[in-house]
Amino acid sequence: MGNILDARKNSILFKDDCGGQGSGICCDSDSVSGAVSQRACVYCGARVVLNPITDAYHIIHGPIGCSSYTWDIRGSLTSGEDIYRNSFSTDLQETDIIFGGVRKLEAAVDELMNAHRSAKLIFIYATCIVGVIGDDVDAVCRTKSAQYEIPVIPVKSPGFSGNKSTGYRMACDAIMEVLCPHKTEKKHGTINILGDFNLAGEMWIIKNYFKKIGIEVICGFTGDARYDDMCRAPGASLNIVQCAGSSTYLAQRMEEEFGIPYIKVSFFGVEDTTASLVRVAEALGDEAAREKAVMFCMEETEKLQGFLAKYTKSLKGKKAAIYVGGGFKAISLIRQFAVVGIQTVLVGTQTGKKEEYEVIESLVDQDTVILDDANPAELETFMKEKGADILVGGVKERPLAYKLGVAFCDHNHERKHPLAGFEGVYNFTREIDRSINNPVWEYVKVL
Ligand code: SF4
Repeated sequence: MGNILDARKNSILFKDDCGGQGSGICCDSDSVSGAVSQRACVYCGARVVLNPITDAYHIIHGPIGCSSYTWDIRGSLTSGEDIYRNSFSTDLQETDIIFGGVRKLEAAVDELMNAHRSAKLIFIYATCIVGVIGDDVDAVCRTKSAQYEIPVIPVKSPGFSGNKSTGYRMACDAIMEVLCPHKTEKKHGTINILGDFNLAGEMWIIKNYFKKIGIEVICGFTGDARYDDMCRAPGASLNIVQCAGSSTYLAQRMEEEFGIPYIKVSFFGVEDTTASLVRVAEALGDEAAREKAVMFCMEETEKLQGFLAKYTKSLKGKKAAIYVGGGFKAISLIRQFAVVGIQTVLVGTQTGKKEEYEVIESLVDQDTVILDDANPAELETFMKEKGADILVGGVKERPLAYKLGVAFCDHNHERKHPLAGFEGVYNFTREIDRSINNPVWEYVKVL
């Protein structure tokens, strides 16, 4: 623990010490100042949730640097419009910061509407500097919304105003502003999928499963979402939440406003995909769909047996480190690794909740390290100490793994192949094997 700041010690748990009794890791709180958290800022948290709405326009009110966070580093796919792949920025300069940026923001909305007259939905993000100078973004949104008769929605997300989870909540509140005017009668047996961003087409894989078992999906939030589909979402009879960290709050608000109950699901790995499909059918009280789900999952699991047995031979006994955004994904990954004989020796999340850490504690082996809101120094210390063979994480963790001479698997938004559903099990297992057993590691010398 020599490298660990005192203020961080309660966010690190050694299962040996707590005995897996859910002894209470410190989590779901702001990052420790100066600890160089791996978390992104509030604005980035909001953007990651809203950006995949394919026909929405995103105006970033701030310096040009903030708008570099765009589709290119969050590769959600679309089946229609692709305007979401652009960023629009007010490009605030020194004079705007001194005299205020409101006029520039109004001009940006006017310019956008002149160039794109069919725009249906605009989000305006207030970044750090706007939080400092205090531009009245709400007033601009109200005025422009009335002028153009479309929703122009403020997302007040200065990077310093909380943590990434704060940004998730702001995005969910912005989505609710779109949905609230469209309250409608519920259509029996229908669902919305929350917290799936259609990375590498994963939303399409999951929607296809629901089609096979006879369940209609009204809208996905926000992968491949369109404004018109979002407006129909209040008519669903159940919400299912895949990325719990970003979208549980949206599910709670939809339950309050529209009376739509929700369940949490995960479509990573055989066990969780099977359990999730069956649970959704049960939650809808749809016996025919439940039977179809059981049959479909049995067939897919059967097909995977030989494949998993083959890869278990080359992966058994390896050690994995996991550092991902939310707790549900970490839980699924621990299970997926166990299927092929890989032990999880380190596991952490950026935004995990207490109850998710309790499940994690119950799943991992006795000598596992569990971390909340880690920083590079902590990850490096414990990966070395535990002898991890592979790190599963996102773009910010990749260089850390490679510098340590450790294999890496991208399980975040930058990957180009789906890791969800049964298709994802094939891709994930192959990628883990190719990365861990790559001969390059024999030639890498870590200083
Ligand atoms: S921390 Fe502030 S300046 Fe940096 S990307 Fe986030 S909003 Fe922009």
